[in-house]
Amino acid sequence: MLRNLLKSKFLIGVIVLLRFTMKAIIDCNNFYCSCERLFKPWLKNIPVVVLSNNDGCIISRSDEAKKLGLKMAAPYFMVKPFLEKQGVQVFSSNYALYGDLSKRVMETIASILPENCIEVYSVDEAFLDLSNVSPIELNDVVKNIKDTVELWTGIAVSIGVAPTKTLSKIANHLAKTNKEKSNCLLVLDTPDKIAAALKRTPVDEIWGIGKQFAAKIEKLNVKTGYELQLMPEEWFRKNLGGVVGVRLLHELQGSPSIGIDEQLSTKKMVSCTRRFERPLTDLKFIKEAVATYVSRAAEKLRRQQSAVKTLSVFIIPKEFKRGKVYKPLEPVTTQMKLPVATSRTNELIKQALILVEQIFKEGATYEKAGVIFSDLTPDSSLQGNFFSPQAGFGQRYLMSQVDNVNFSMRNEKVKFASAGVAKPWKMKQEFLSSGYTTRWNELRLIS
Ligand SMILES: [Mg+2]
Repeated sequence: MLRNLLKSKFLIGVIVLLRFTMKAIIDCNNFYCSCERLFKPWLKNIPVVVLSNNDGCIISRSDEAKKLGLKMAAPYFMVKPFLEKQGVQVFSSNYALYGDLSKRVMETIASILPENCIEVYSVDEAFLDLSNVSPIELNDVVKNIKDTVELWTGIAVSIGVAPTKTLSKIANHLAKTNKEKSNCLLVLDTPDKIAAALKRTPVDEIWGIGKQFAAKIEKLNVKTGYELQLMPEEWFRKNLGGVVGVRLLHELQGSPSIGIDEQLSTKKMVSCTRRFERPLTDLKFIKEAVATYVSRAAEKLRRQQSAVKTLSVFIIPKEFKRGKVYKPLEPVTTQMKLPVATSRTNELIKQALILVEQIFKEGATYEKAGVIFSDLTPDSSLQGNFFSPQAGFGQRYLMSQVDNVNFSMRNEKVKFASAGVAKPWKMKQEFLSSGYTTRWNELRLIS
């Protein structure tokens, strides 16, 4: 009797503990497609897809488009006849629109929860720390966040709630796989619910497990998240990247190891590569393009609080016809070690343009360029350099302010002059919708 009582007290303890350290992820459903639909209500129930930069491939699909069997990353030119036949509406990516709606979603959440409990994780996702929400109110609070975001912004969202960030991602994924039943909301607040969710989650669906690790794990005949968290800690340490692996195990077992505003691991390399709208022969334009790509990559770098030591630049010559065959040319690439690791766009552009000049050949035609930052170090550990006064905090503050403006406008509002103004090399956007919320002359008209 006593033993049973103790056991039940223990269970209640576990449940209370789980409920008191709850994290959530809120994720906008088919975000880019939802943004396009918001201003074109007639698209309701019609399949919609959004294409990547340069109208290359599919990067967002409405539920109807998914039902047609369209896959993420499918190249547009290959699926074009199918899209036309099925009446699928196609859009170029309109980052000004998506950035603005993302800001509205995040601001709405911030009107309900304190700002230090919100980690904006990507343009359409945010982690929430719900530790201060009492267990009794948890369901109501989460439901209120979901309803308020949908009512105020018109963007449908899914929310997964669990004791850790990794489990909340799993909860969110499961909520989305059965929208009718879950109503896009799933709370994993008991050990039983967590175990059941892990049993339904294949290893490669787990946040933080890349393709490389998934293949390694599947060789051991471990198929689900549930089986994975039964593996010994030593195995995680040895095979899944040391401390990172151990933290992942703890997260799966329900003990929080990744805080809000903290990542499981940061990317070891950051890059930005784009094909030009048309082939270029002019060094001036190639430099503008590379400066723009450096700005993009530097933003990503600062987002994960890293600085770069090795900078690589490449330009790819246009394939040319030799006899009857088109022969693709190898990219021309070069790299340099920076004297001091940095995350500042101006410093990186200056060095990248020196590299472009080194590899550019007069008379050649180029169709693509890119920059790669490797050899990354944490930005916080940067030492100031006596000979490099720009390593100071003023510059860092300036960059963070530029990022804030550009993130909210998604429009390169503030940019470096070397990135160009007219940009004739810029990407193709044949199906671009209007800047309904960011440009006065493109406001939606109601007649
Ligand atoms: Mg999403």
